[in-house]
Amino acid sequence: MDTVETNIAIIGAGFSGIATAIRLLQEGTEDFVILERADEIGGTWRDNIYPGVACDVASHLYSLSFAPNPDWSHHYAGGAEIQRYLLHLVERYELRRFMRFGAEVLSGRFDAQAGRWTLSCAGELVVDTRFLISGAGALKDPRIPPIPGAETFAGPAMHSARWDPTVALAGKRIGVIGTGASAIQLVPEVAKEAARLVVFQRTPPWVMSQRDRAFTAIERWLFRHVTPLRLLKRLSIYLRHEFAYPASFTADRWTGRVFRRLLINHIRRQVRDPDLARALTPAYRPGCKRILINNAYLPAMARDNVSLCTTPIAAVDETGVILEGGDHHELDVLIWCTGFTVDDPLGGLRLYGLEGRDLAQTWDGRPSAYLGLTMPGFPNAFMLLGPNTGLGHNSVVFMMEGQVEWILQALRHVSAAGPRAWLDCKPERLEQFLAELDRAHEGQVWATGCQSWYLNEAGENFTIWPGSTLSYRRRIRRFEPDDFVLGCT
Ligand code: NAP
Repeated sequence: MDTVETNIAIIGAGFSGIATAIRLLQEGTEDFVILERADEIGGTWRDNIYPGVACDVASHLYSLSFAPNPDWSHHYAGGAEIQRYLLHLVERYELRRFMRFGAEVLSGRFDAQAGRWTLSCAGELVVDTRFLISGAGALKDPRIPPIPGAETFAGPAMHSARWDPTVALAGKRIGVIGTGASAIQLVPEVAKEAARLVVFQRTPPWVMSQRDRAFTAIERWLFRHVTPLRLLKRLSIYLRHEFAYPASFTADRWTGRVFRRLLINHIRRQVRDPDLARALTPAYRPGCKRILINNAYLPAMARDNVSLCTTPIAAVDETGVILEGGDHHELDVLIWCTGFTVDDPLGGLRLYGLEGRDLAQTWDGRPSAYLGLTMPGFPNAFMLLGPNTGLGHNSVVFMMEGQVEWILQALRHVSAAGPRAWLDCKPERLEQFLAELDRAHEGQVWATGCQSWYLNEAGENFTIWPGSTLSYRRRIRRFEPDDFVLGCT
């Protein structure tokens, strides 16, 4: 048994965990540990290595404002380049000395007497910490849908977020299940190699064109040496994303209808076959599910070696996919692009707060947190990019940076109250916050009838912030002590 005593335990060495660690160091705090379940940093950008992986938010915005990178090669960086950026940050701020790898946090229990959390981790590690900050995120555990026989396929089968680069794709018959953000990046690349590619689509996505290009050496030099220019670049990307919000996401705005028309024209321009274009055109409003930004997907779907299958899947067997009605698609390789278990953000982690209450039970199918940051009954515990702080239109890094600053204020406040003080959100504040979210979601595009991972089984939106990113950043600009009770032993 290995025991570590610390002031702050951060779960996850992905974007959020790394950002928190850097800010703690900048504030002069070194008494923290980062617990990472894998054997390398990077989170999403370590796990998602499928061909074509990239971020559809331009890199000068999808990066930390306090640790900018003037050297992005393209407007939209590929996944490998984002992972290199994160690796660079870890080296530059010497963060590895705070990290424990293979340290999946399995359970955490708060002791009100001591004002501390005890975390039990894989590898016989026990962490005794005053504060707990989760940077684990929700898009991390692959979801394989409960299709009968899903596990019986005899050939190589992999989820997009568990890509096996040793699987040969050239000349193979390949099936891709799902047409979300991961699939549309992967399909064009796989199509180049496959003898035949079948894309199994349940619901088509809305796809927007992307203006990407490499930065020239001169531009990169300017971004490095003329800071205002780099900041202007970041601001212009931010504003472009931010204005998409009022323009398209409020239900029944005329701007939403114009936007839909533009997207339909885009499909027709990219796909000449009218039947295929029709099958690739969604019936729901743009924005109800994430709008995907990609130039290669629609042309790839029009390739001779690619076919779109819209008949529902009945089962998977050893040799392929069986459709409702009995047709069978023989496949050599099966690729699941079926998303993540977003409705179960804790995964295997069990957290027990005051009076032993269990966080998963408390959530009961609706993950929630005051300001997306903290739960009543779970003192001194915070989460980054928690419930209702995801976005459909802008960079979550912008949201997360504001959250880190809010958490730093909270830590300062409770630390000033004494070494054993703890901070617990008032339950009524969470109730008011959730009621406010529900009201705000009512008039929004996510509530217009499509099925997406934004909603839970009861149709409640537990993932998306229903406003502008500025409104959220304004909301969390100042930590309000009045929203909390201070406990002390
Ligand atoms: P996803 O968006 O949840 O897509 C899952 C796909 O699987 C959907 O097309 C879904 O169809 C389909 N599916 C699920 N169960 C199925 C079944 N039983 N039969 C047939 N199809 C089924 O997952 P993802 O593509 O991995 O993306 C998840 C999130 O990751 C994104 O929304 C985004 O936030 C993030 N992401 C971002 C980027 C980026 O560039 N920023 C890139 C990749 C991922 P239905 O639509 O009918 O449910």
